[in-house]
Amino acid sequence: MTNTFNVLHVDLTSGKSRVLNIPGRNTWLGGCGLAAVLFEQFGLLHEDPFHSDQPMVFAIGPLTGYFPLMSKTVLGFMSPYHGQYAESHAGGRLALALRFAGYEGLVITGRASSLSCLIIGSRQVTIQNVHFMRGMDIFKTGKLLRSMHKDHAGHRSILRIGPAGENQVSYAAINVDTYRHFGRLGSGAVMGSKNLKAVIVSGDMGYDLSAYPEYPKVYKEIFTAVTQSDLMKKYHDLGTAENLKKLDAAGYLPWRNLTQTSDPKAIDGISGETFARDLLLRQSACAGCPVGCIHVGLLREKFGPENEFLYRQVAYDYEPIFAVGSMLGIDDASSVLTLLEDVERAGLDVMSAGVALAWATEALQQGILTQEETLVPLAFGVCGPYGRAIELLGNPAANRFYTLLGQGALAAAKHYGGEDFACVLGQEIAGYATGENYIVSQALGFRHSHLDIGAYSFDQKNTTHDISQAMTFFDTEEQQRVLLCSMVSCLFARKVYTLGRLTAALHSLGLEEMAENLETKASAIQAKRWELRFKTGFDPASIPIPQRFRQMVTGKGPLDEKYLDQLMETYKKRLEAFRPGEDVDPKK
Ligand code: SF4
Repeated sequence: MTNTFNVLHVDLTSGKSRVLNIPGRNTWLGGCGLAAVLFEQFGLLHEDPFHSDQPMVFAIGPLTGYFPLMSKTVLGFMSPYHGQYAESHAGGRLALALRFAGYEGLVITGRASSLSCLIIGSRQVTIQNVHFMRGMDIFKTGKLLRSMHKDHAGHRSILRIGPAGENQVSYAAINVDTYRHFGRLGSGAVMGSKNLKAVIVSGDMGYDLSAYPEYPKVYKEIFTAVTQSDLMKKYHDLGTAENLKKLDAAGYLPWRNLTQTSDPKAIDGISGETFARDLLLRQSACAGCPVGCIHVGLLREKFGPENEFLYRQVAYDYEPIFAVGSMLGIDDASSVLTLLEDVERAGLDVMSAGVALAWATEALQQGILTQEETLVPLAFGVCGPYGRAIELLGNPAANRFYTLLGQGALAAAKHYGGEDFACVLGQEIAGYATGENYIVSQALGFRHSHLDIGAYSFDQKNTTHDISQAMTFFDTEEQQRVLLCSMVSCLFARKVYTLGRLTAALHSLGLEEMAENLETKASAIQAKRWELRFKTGFDPASIPIPQRFRQMVTGKGPLDEKYLDQLMETYKKRLEAFRPGEDVDPKK
């Protein structure tokens, strides 16, 4: 087996492309590891995220296309949200399309001379002028692209941005195959800065598995483990929306800009059970996944005095429902779907958009903002004005307020005041008012995401405030997740893809050398991505914990500030060990 990654590099400025063989596949594995290696090679570490030569780096893993739930693509880029190296992960069909197009990595640099669509297959790279799509929303863009490119629909993936990406809103997202996203930290804005409206990847090749006699047996074992585990029940039935009722009952669900952590009177209106009973149309799945956790609801809107209805299919999940539901005090499932559709149409990250609007609502309530700034009467629980505000966020030329809010709640709060109640931990929070461990893990996590460490679950299981126990959990979790995200496994399969099964899967494909010392390799990848963060300006000491989090009362009672501060300081020291130039073991 070759020790190189097959990577396609497309330069939009010159319109040229080339295939590269990047060494080190057995060491850097793929996903997070490959993205970091490619960003190190192509990234301009001290330049603006919108510099035309900044790369967008897409990376899949060695098991993509071979095993179930190896469904993610990692995108490495310079984030316009914080100006540093960032990763965003998305499912959909992209990972398989790249595999069947023959590439484990895709690097896009340069800026197209007019709004363009990049089309990639195993034997073609085309840059198509799509100037007529300027300003077009996500839905119209998708519909047009699908009608223009009918070939290879089964193995084809479509990435697109909406007005927010074109307008370089700092948390603009990239829509992947309609229901998945590169959501957080603004990759859509980077794509917009490249004049790139869309990317279509056609997986138009096949591959021969006859050289791997062990593969069918290992595949069957893993497939059985997936389908017989509680994954199916947990993620397929109600989906992640199941957590709404549970977290609300336990006092862990942020409501109305985190002024409450439970609302027993309102929760039934937006619970997973209500969505399933009243709105669920169907479940869908990323390519190669038998679980199918994507829940698609029916949005029905009356548009005339007679019985005239418009209907749309809108995906929902726990975090999006939190962001435009409980966080905005919206307690009606149909209204939540309406706002989710608005966010989707504009091409925004739903968590940042919802949480930023929650801050703006409280700021308006407190008189820090006036309606002259917000242009609409934002009020918790009232859906209509939020729809218009989301549209303004995607097209922020409206006024200075929306331009600033499009850079994040904290950016706006720094200008107008109200920093103490901006629910931002590195970026807008993800919906877990579970306690101190979650706060620290999102604030100091690599992606400022609940998925970096999974401390929201640790908070719920652990009542002892023992720093060394927490540190052991943080260290172990981060390393395990780096390994899974280098293999590009969906994290919902983290209990299935044990070290033993990952090793067996690699062996079955003849990747014996890659399968050696996986934990050590994960540590090296972990160190490399942190090194890139530091080199691009990350400073753990600069991440504030706004007062609102310190005032939080969860189901367990008031926050333990002493423990929070100790944990924050201890973890900062751990991260400092990754700062380039210091030859220190981060676990000591
Ligand atoms: S469990 Fe859900 S997110 Fe994960 S691969 Fe399957 S459909 Fe995609």
